[in-house]
Amino acid sequence: MARINENYLKLPGSYLFSTIGKKVKEYSENNPDAEIIRLGIGDVTQPLAPAIISTLHSAVEEMGDAARFKGYAPDLGYDFLRNAISEKDYKARGCDISPDEIFVSDGAKSDCGNIQEIFSTDNKIAVCDPVYPVYVDSNVMAGRTGEYDPQTERFRDVIYMKCTRENDFAPDLPSEVPDLIYLCFPNNPTGAVMNKERLQEWVDYARKNGSIILYDSAYEAYISDDDVPHSIYECEGAKECAIEFRSFSKTAGFTGLRLGYTVIPKEIKAEGQLLWPLWARRHGTKYNGAPYIVQRAGEAVYSEEGRAQVTAQIAYYMENARIIKDGLKDAGYEVYGGVNAPYIWMRTPGDMTSWEFFDHLLAKANVVGTPGSGFGPSGEHYFRLTAFGNRENTIKAVERFKNL
Ligand code: PLP
Repeated sequence: MARINENYLKLPGSYLFSTIGKKVKEYSENNPDAEIIRLGIGDVTQPLAPAIISTLHSAVEEMGDAARFKGYAPDLGYDFLRNAISEKDYKARGCDISPDEIFVSDGAKSDCGNIQEIFSTDNKIAVCDPVYPVYVDSNVMAGRTGEYDPQTERFRDVIYMKCTRENDFAPDLPSEVPDLIYLCFPNNPTGAVMNKERLQEWVDYARKNGSIILYDSAYEAYISDDDVPHSIYECEGAKECAIEFRSFSKTAGFTGLRLGYTVIPKEIKAEGQLLWPLWARRHGTKYNGAPYIVQRAGEAVYSEEGRAQVTAQIAYYMENARIIKDGLKDAGYEVYGGVNAPYIWMRTPGDMTSWEFFDHLLAKANVVGTPGSGFGPSGEHYFRLTAFGNRENTIKAVERFKNL
């Protein structure tokens, strides 16, 4: 008889965004004239940049030409892309990451979710609270988190590192030492960042204790402050203790194309065992490779033209972030983030819970955001707004906030 992986049953029933979807659908059905503005979803809205589109066209042409056709992609990715990443994302920032330490993938979500497979189920994980839910959920599925306690809204065996306004939404070093530490900066949902000095403390802590840091820098392209590292490898010794995830989704609009990569340094070890061959083995067995045409499109992001075009898109989103943040501040709200990240993190007014504020905002302003409690228990009484909308709707939404 086939049996299921019971760990899946430990996950709380409804996924955050499906609950939001249901509530919005119900509201629209009951209020067909309402003009709803969505500042909730973390997807981009700008079309792919022209340099990327023209590269996609020529790569498609190659696939129809017997002399230039490509079949399966190499396990770890095409050299042209790994070389560009190594040069432009790392060496240009003084980080010694070589092309063969880069594993190209179909996006950061898969890698963030799958990386735990190369570690024992005995490992204790630590996560920022609140944070992107994939880290906890993938460890739940693997049986590494213990039972869920609905009272505390926490899994028993996970170390939740509180990110609150008191610590600028960047966690303090935990007193109980975790084996695997998930860090995400710039952070989704809070938009918080860690400066280099603070991140270095984490690297030192991990090296001292034999922990591995799993560093998600999917939003690094949004960083504008000079003292905020784009990569954990800007910190000394990080190659001995950190794995890094990157994505082309939010930095170049690839949410629908799918492209990302993971850096596993050649020297990083756990229990004396190098991690690179484990991930290479996993990649070779369980991963099909990002398509050739998509990897070519990724390469185009590093061309002069491509770089200028995606930088302009990011500037567009960050101007939206400024409009939201300044507008809400003027209206008297307590707001965070929105400077080095496309996320604005606001305190709910009064003593409203995140979901109460969600309902209130939908009903009174027809604006959709994301309840902070969906990202972890410390997200309660907070609310996430994203800068990915178009300018007109963003301005309109802010006006509606002012009239709430
Ligand atoms: N990491 C973080 C922190 C994210 O917020 C997201 C997407 O929202 C991802 C990773 C997923 O990126 P990708 O689209 O490359 O799978």
